[in-house]
Amino acid sequence: MSEESFDAIVVGAGPAGSAAAYCMAKEGLEVLLIERGTAPGAKNSSGGRLYGHSLNKIIPNFWKDAPVECQVSRETVTFLTGETAVSLDVKSQKFADQPSFTVLRSKFDAWLAEKAEEAGAMLACGIRADELIMKDGKVIGVLCGEDEMFASVVIEADGANAWLAQKAGIRGELSPKHVATGVKEVIELPPNVIKDRFNLTGDTGAAQLFVGECTRGLQGGGFIYTNKESISLGLVVTTEEFLQTEHKLADLMEDFKMHPAIQPLIEGGKVVEYSAHLVPEGGLGMMPPLVSDGLLIVGDAAGLVLNIGYMVRGMDFAIASGEAAAYAVVTAKKLEDYSKQGLALYQTALEKSFVLQDLKTYSKVPEFLENHRIFGKYPALVEEMMVNLFTVDGTPAQHVLKPMMATIKRRGGFVQLAKDAWKGVRAL
Ligand SMILES: Cc1cc2nc3c(=O)[nH]c(=O)nc-3n(C[C@H](O)[C@H](O)[C@H](O)COP(=O)(O)OP(=O)(O)OC[C@H]3O[C@@H](n4cnc5c(N)ncnc54)[C@H](O)[C@@H]3O)c2cc1C
Repeated sequence: MSEESFDAIVVGAGPAGSAAAYCMAKEGLEVLLIERGTAPGAKNSSGGRLYGHSLNKIIPNFWKDAPVECQVSRETVTFLTGETAVSLDVKSQKFADQPSFTVLRSKFDAWLAEKAEEAGAMLACGIRADELIMKDGKVIGVLCGEDEMFASVVIEADGANAWLAQKAGIRGELSPKHVATGVKEVIELPPNVIKDRFNLTGDTGAAQLFVGECTRGLQGGGFIYTNKESISLGLVVTTEEFLQTEHKLADLMEDFKMHPAIQPLIEGGKVVEYSAHLVPEGGLGMMPPLVSDGLLIVGDAAGLVLNIGYMVRGMDFAIASGEAAAYAVVTAKKLEDYSKQGLALYQTALEKSFVLQDLKTYSKVPEFLENHRIFGKYPALVEEMMVNLFTVDGTPAQHVLKPMMATIKRRGGFVQLAKDAWKGVRAL
């Protein structure tokens, strides 16, 4: 049994935990960063697109040093049916003004944790925190196997499951409605092949999101991100959907890869990594108390993820929440008050920042996305309209509007479409 004491113990060296540890260590606090994996990132999965703003705030121009893959210059959202893909494709130099990058988490997480170490944090890998140690209702440390480790404050950054808070009764069990299951493969291909297939130049990359047949109409979507020497390809599907269908995620993945629009992109590639992970998607509806006496919850553990269909953001939220938690702890140390009130600055900072404001702005999205027409009927409707638009068969042509109205009528009617569109506009 060993006893050690720190200003702060951070549980989990993902983006949230390492950002928190980095910011506290830079301010001279004694910080222990615990990671259950053999190395940071070893157990982590992510689609792989990092919006750079929040990391740029704490490590300016981080991309000059960080192991980022490609700077995203091309965005595509695609409706998929069995045989057809209809895309909105945007390629712009302007994306470079607020750069976002594709990353591979095993490299990226290791780098960010190393930054925390360089700033003075102590990183301990291969150690799992099993539970919070409480005294008089206040968190005073963590129990790791037989070892007790003590700190003025614990920052819980252990990802979507948030086991520690669950075990301590601070948050309830996760509802299948509030989490999605994500699977991802990393498929190796030569760099010149990736550039040719995705129409890319230099170190730029592509980000593609897919709706429709890739999930067989289930609530969720697919993604492809290009890296330097590989492609990250995967699916994210609401967990509740799997309880109600016979579909298996592994089967959906195989079908997605065999789709005529996807197969040519990955042909000849070698799968070098496969991972599966939960994604908290319930937004404000699943958020636990963020602050308790001696405890702050950050990143996925706090449910800070935004999935709005054409964009998935978790890592920038994780990093910003880690930073906000760190500065709340720095202030609490100055005041020697680690109570809920003493740490309340964390909640206030999140409310003032994009983190809680974006989750509020998009708070209707989870409910909007429960509409299955978005994942089944509407991709089919878009397909029919676009295939008609570009088909010349020698019969007399009609003005565009007439066949489009006929398609809408056949696929559920104008009133239904208008209602759904209005809900979408309000949610997004
Ligand atoms: C398939 C998929 C695609 C995604 N795509 C994107 C995307 O493109 N862009 C984006 O921004 N976000 C994306 N996300 C979400 C993003 O990955 C997460 O929001 C982000 O990783 C959250 O960071 P975190 O540090 O809070 O948690 P995590 O990254 O989950 O890190 C938690 C860390 O805690 C460790 N840990 C857990 N329990 C313990 C314990 N008891 N003791 C010690 N250590 C512990 C874990 O090993 C891990 O290292 C995606 C997620 C998935 C699953």
